[in-house]
Amino acid sequence: MKQFFKSESGEIHFGDLAEPGFLAAKIENIDSILENLGAKKLWRCTVCNDLHIGEKPPKICPTCFAEEAYVEINKKEFLEMVK
Ligand SMILES: [Zn+2]
Repeated sequence: MKQFFKSESGEIHFGDLAEPGFLAAKIENIDSILENLGAKKLWRCTVCNDLHIGEKPPKICPTCFAEEAYVEINKKEFLEMVK
């Protein structure tokens, strides 16, 4: 089951697994995070639908191991996929 992970630099990953450096985290303020993205963008893995919030997506998806599989998505799509 997909869950939220967070890195020390504030990147967020929603997936079965996350990259090294990410720890499982409870995210209760996802709306406020989406309102304050700064330079971060929203990404979705086109293979397994993992989601990622960061300036760049993972080069290799930590859940399905696909390479260069992330596309940028908008806030509406992101919210529909986590709720
Ligand atoms: Zn994936």
